[in-house]
Amino acid sequence: MKAIVFPQKDWVEVTEAADPVVAPGKVVVRVRASGLCHTDLDVMHSNYGPSAFPLIPGHEFAGEVAAIGSGVTGLAEGDRVVIDPNLECGECAACLRGWAHLCETLGAYGVSTDGGFADYCAVRADRVHPIGDMPFDIAALAEPMGCALNALSPLEGRIVERAVIFGTGPMGLLLGLALRVLGAAEVNMVDLDPGRLDLARGLGLSGVASGSGALAVHERSCDLAVDATGVPAVAARLLHYVANGGAALFFGVCPQDARIEISPFEVFRRQLALFGTHSLNHNIPAALDTLAAIGPRVAEVVTHRMTAEDVAAVMAGHKPPGSLKIQMFT
Ligand SMILES: [Zn+2]
Ligand SMILES: [Zn+2]
Repeated sequence: MKAIVFPQKDWVEVTEAADPVVAPGKVVVRVRASGLCHTDLDVMHSNYGPSAFPLIPGHEFAGEVAAIGSGVTGLAEGDRVVIDPNLECGECAACLRGWAHLCETLGAYGVSTDGGFADYCAVRADRVHPIGDMPFDIAALAEPMGCALNALSPLEGRIVERAVIFGTGPMGLLLGLALRVLGAAEVNMVDLDPGRLDLARGLGLSGVASGSGALAVHERSCDLAVDATGVPAVAARLLHYVANGGAALFFGVCPQDARIEISPFEVFRRQLALFGTHSLNHNIPAALDTLAAIGPRVAEVVTHRMTAEDVAAVMAGHKPPGSLKIQMFT
């Protein structure tokens, strides 16, 4: 089969790889849509520690069941499915609490073992979720949407009427759209790029230009302020936009050595809540429901549907200007 492979650190190529063989408890999925994520680049460059090279990347993928291993029930060849990529140990303190995403030895398809940038991928049957007739490009957004829902989970029980999200990339947009589904009346998406702001407006969100007077109006007025840029200077300004009693969410991935200043007195006096978030926690079914609730226009978050060769070129540094979510699509 054809696959994108990281043979070693800082290297990507498209090559012929052995077809995965089906094993007990597993299924082989014929990949139809596979999303590119910044995590793939971090894996390629070993930013999170030693990666399992050689590796087929890809942790955001949907397709059809092509073969079924012994002992697998409830799935049939041809079933349309999406994959939950996380592989937790099941035994550490976090796993025993039901926090698989915080597992001390968390692995994932496409990160610690072969993933979805290939014609086929063998996965555990319990990591497969049926998608009904949802198009594959939308279903492949279930993993990032799962991350967005996990990020919003600490807000349960809080009132979020007005939110501001800095960064209108695919993750910021999915978070904003999820907030609208959850009932937030006003979600302001902030970005420098007018094209991205127009897209956000088309999806029912408010688009606000960075540094504009329209943004200044929102200072100290939002129930929730989110950094979805990963830019430390943006994260450092987040609390300026939070109303008394509101929350700040650090969602973007800042450089590990970045530091920002926070006034503990301000956190106390204005009763602010600060949240972080990591990955998704087996919430793919909720993510599929949320994508369905947003409707078919969520497909606009996917700006490029490409061949494996073109996705590999993007990984090597040739990112198309104006792109949001890029998928390998076959
Ligand atoms: Zn991802
Ligand atoms: Zn664990």
